[in-house]
Amino acid sequence: MNGMGLVEHLRAIVGDGFVLEGENISSYLEDWRGRYHGSALCAVRPADKEEVAAVVAAVHAAGLTIVPQGGNTGLCGAATPDSQGQSVVLLLDRLNAILEINVLDSCIRVQAGCVLQTVQEKAEEAGFYFPLSLGAEGTCQIGGNIATNAGGTAVLKYGSMRSLVLGLSVVLPDGGVCDWSLPLRKNSAGYDLKQLFIGSEGTLGIITEATLRIFPKPLQVVTVMAAVETVDDALALFVRLTQVLGERIRAFEIMNRTQMDLVLERVPGNRLPFAEACPYYVLVEVTETLPRIDLSAIMLEILEEQIEAGRILDAVVPYSLAQAEDLWRLRHSVSEANKLSGISVAHDTAVPVSQQGEFIRQAEEGIRTLFPELQIPMVGHIGDGNIHVVVIVPYDSVKDEDERTDRIARIHAVVDDVVIRIGGTISAEHGIGQSNKLRLQKSLGETTIGLMRSIKRAIDPDLTMNPGKVIDMR
Ligand SMILES: Cc1cc2nc3c(=O)[nH]c(=O)nc-3n(C[C@H](O)[C@H](O)[C@H](O)COP(=O)(O)OP(=O)(O)OC[C@H]3O[C@@H](n4cnc5c(N)ncnc54)[C@H](O)[C@@H]3O)c2cc1C
Repeated sequence: MNGMGLVEHLRAIVGDGFVLEGENISSYLEDWRGRYHGSALCAVRPADKEEVAAVVAAVHAAGLTIVPQGGNTGLCGAATPDSQGQSVVLLLDRLNAILEINVLDSCIRVQAGCVLQTVQEKAEEAGFYFPLSLGAEGTCQIGGNIATNAGGTAVLKYGSMRSLVLGLSVVLPDGGVCDWSLPLRKNSAGYDLKQLFIGSEGTLGIITEATLRIFPKPLQVVTVMAAVETVDDALALFVRLTQVLGERIRAFEIMNRTQMDLVLERVPGNRLPFAEACPYYVLVEVTETLPRIDLSAIMLEILEEQIEAGRILDAVVPYSLAQAEDLWRLRHSVSEANKLSGISVAHDTAVPVSQQGEFIRQAEEGIRTLFPELQIPMVGHIGDGNIHVVVIVPYDSVKDEDERTDRIARIHAVVDDVVIRIGGTISAEHGIGQSNKLRLQKSLGETTIGLMRSIKRAIDPDLTMNPGKVIDMR
C-alpha cells in the first residue's frame, strides 16, 4: 500500500476529521525545546484502544513507522519524527477518560491520553492523592509520563512513575493487544513484561491504559525555602530533616544562584523571597496525613536549630497557600527560563545522594576549565540524587552548526566522565530520545546496549516503533 492508500485506510479507521496532514501537523513535528524538526506522512488521533490497535496494524502492514506522541513536553526529542517523512505520528489526546477510581484497591484507572493534572484533580476530588508532579503537568499525558518513567518533585517519598504503575494495557507494534491492567499488589507469574514498556519511550509499543496507585491525601503541607552557602550545608539540612521527619519529606529541591537569577530575569511573575541573593536555595516540602501532629512547629524548630548552627543563612516560611505557590513557581519556571536564555545543554544526572557535592564540584570545575564564559545554572531533586547541571550556550554565540555540535558534545563528555567516575546515570528522569543515544552507549557499554537491541528486536522485529530513538539498531 502506498502512502496515500494508507492515509485513506487510516481515515476509514478513525474518521475523516482525525487524520491530519500538511500544515495542520507542523506543531507535532517539533519538540518542546525547538531543537528537533521532523517530517511525517500524517498525524492520527484515534478515539480508543481498539482504534489505536487498528491504526498500528495498518501502519505496520504498510511497512511504515509510528511515532507515539503525548503532550510533546519531553526534553530529549523522543516524540519528534525523523526527517524521512515515512512515519505516522500517533496522537493519544482523545484517549482522555478516567475509567475508574477504586477505593478498596487504592487505584485510579485512566486512558493514556489523560493530562497529568486532570488525574491529580480527579484523585483529589475522590479524597485521594496522585503524587506525580512536574513543571509540565498541565500538558503532559500519563502515557508520556509512563513512557519516559517520569520523576518530578515527589520521587523522594513516592518513587518515579514506575513505582506508581500497577497495571498497563499496550498495543504491540503489529497491532496485537496485551492487557496487564489488573491492580495486583503481588504477581510472580513469569516475566513482568509491563516493566519493559515503562521508560521505553515509545520504542516497543503504545500504552493505551494505565492503572495507577493513589495515596491518602495529606492534611498538612508545610513548604519552606532556605538559603544556604554550600551544597554540603543543603545536604546537612536534608540529613537532619530525614532524622526527624523521615518519609514525611515529599520534596527536597535545590537551585543555585545562577539558576535563580535566570528565572527572575526571564520569567515574569517571579520575585526573590530573600533580601539578598545567596549561593544556593533549597525548597523543602513536608506533609502529614494526620491532623494532631504540629508539622509547622517541628519544621520551625529544625530551621531555628540549623540557623543557629550556621548551616542556613535565611529561611522563608509561607503563611498562605498563595505564598507557597510563589515559591514553587520559582522552581517550576527553570525550564522556561533556560530555554529563553539560550541552548540549554542539560544533564539529567543521578548519583548517590552522598556523592552529589563531589559530582557538582567536579562537573562545574570541568566545564569552567573548558568554557569559562558560559553560565552554569543548576537545579535538581537533590533529595533523591538527581541534579540537572545545565550549561547555557547563548543562541548567537556560535553561528556555525558543526562548531555548536562539537561544543555541546565536549560539555556532555566532561559531565559524563564525572558521572562514570563517581558512579551514576546520565538519565534519571528525562530519558534518552534522540539527544542522548551516544551518551547512553558510552555510559552503559556494549553488553547492555546489545541486550537492549535484542529486546527491541524480540518485540518489534520490523522496527515499526519510534525509529531512531533510545538505541540505534545496526
Ligand atoms: C517545563 C517542563 C518541566 C519538566 N519537568 C520534568 C520533571 O521534573 N521530571 C521529569 O521527569 N520530566 C520533566 N519534564 C519532561 C516531560 O514533561 C516528561 O518527560 C513527560 O513525562 C513527557 O510526557 P508527554 O506526554 O509530554 O510525552 P511526549 O513528550 O509526548 O513523549 C515522550 C516520549 O513518550 C512516548 N509516548 C508518549 N505517549 C506514549 C504512549 N501513550 N505510549 C507509548 N509511548 C508514548 C513518545 O513517543 C516519546 O518517546 C519537564 C518538561 C517541561 C517542558
